[in-house]
Amino acid sequence: MPRADLVVYNIGELVTFRGGPTPRPSPETAGILRNAAVAFRGGRIIEVGPTGWIRARYSAPEWVDAGSRLATPGLVDMHTHALFAGSREDEFEAKLMGASYSEILARGGGIYRTIEATRRSSRRELLRLLLERLYRMLEGGTTVVEVKTGYALEPRLEVEHLSIIREAGGLTPQLVVPTLLAHVPPREGDRGAYIESFKAAIREAARRRLAVYFDVFCDRGAFTPEESKALLLEAHRAGLRLRMHADQLEYMGCSLVAAEAGVDSVDHLEVMPPENATALAKARVVAGLLPTSILAMMQAERPPVDSLRRAGVPIAVGSDYNPNNMTPLAQTAMQVAPYILKLTPMEALAAVTVNAAASLGLEGVSGRVAPGFRGDLVVWDAEDYRWLTYEWGWNKALYVIAAGRVVVSESRLIVKPVLM
Ligand SMILES: [Zn+2]
Repeated sequence: MPRADLVVYNIGELVTFRGGPTPRPSPETAGILRNAAVAFRGGRIIEVGPTGWIRARYSAPEWVDAGSRLATPGLVDMHTHALFAGSREDEFEAKLMGASYSEILARGGGIYRTIEATRRSSRRELLRLLLERLYRMLEGGTTVVEVKTGYALEPRLEVEHLSIIREAGGLTPQLVVPTLLAHVPPREGDRGAYIESFKAAIREAARRRLAVYFDVFCDRGAFTPEESKALLLEAHRAGLRLRMHADQLEYMGCSLVAAEAGVDSVDHLEVMPPENATALAKARVVAGLLPTSILAMMQAERPPVDSLRRAGVPIAVGSDYNPNNMTPLAQTAMQVAPYILKLTPMEALAAVTVNAAASLGLEGVSGRVAPGFRGDLVVWDAEDYRWLTYEWGWNKALYVIAAGRVVVSESRLIVKPVLM
């Protein structure tokens, strides 16, 4: 009898996303299995099939009864700024009492305040904060997570922050994807010199294999399309994969730069002209939409979801967790996506699993329930996939399996970060 480490059985509805990443996720093509079971060994999924068959076929030391509930791939958070120190709850309140963003900046608030707090923190403190957040995410079903730098400002320090993200990745059962982000330029000083020193940081991050991705915030108050192009080109030459923040606040042509550069993912797009969707489709770029960021920014604009769909651009959704948008769970982003972006329930689920994995270059690794894939699975306190978004507002993850290990059981996190 073949041996497994773990079997999850009696799954009422298992969404496998057999067909891979897609611009048009639907219940018909999502590979839904009834009364299914999943066997895990060595951190991976080894078999998916009917409960009766898997139970008869495998011996395993650990069995999880899903109680006829819904199970899906582990969630993939494709966009986070989880490495930061400090908080900005006073600005949140001031904004709601009528203060404008420029007033908040003038008081020394906003992103530069987070940069100050982050730069003042020790390596150990930053690692502790990041791990705490990663485990919070794990509790909500996030088993793969992208984490960006971007609050060090000084390029050499950004590289050191990448090494903290790498270290955290070794201390959690999640797969952590580290991204070097050119977030904002310094408030004063020579921009050209800053770009040059950031290029050196890109080369160092690639040489030391600290980053998988390079990302640049191309927008008003951040980097221009020309500066973004120069940085993306350097990162491409250094062998890093590319992603981008574009068209969030003001349209300056950044999404077209993303298409030309051949990024894996272009994120935000709140003010993208709908006709740019064709260029993204041609360049096979995934659109990373961030619905909780729209809420946090109290923004009226919405990304052109209909045009993205029609053009055939796969849509992913991320949490955009950062001190100005304190939503650590990809699950929350999925839950609000139908209400804010008008995604269907299946589109919202695909956006935080199979399409999110594609946006991180993890197509054959994560985001699906299939033999050979990472051993990630979430059993939800839900009857079918529609209930994930139809009724919402609390953490519905009942069992979370990460790299073949049960890490959440009966809604309780049963693993702890070793540092604490
Ligand atoms: Zn972001």
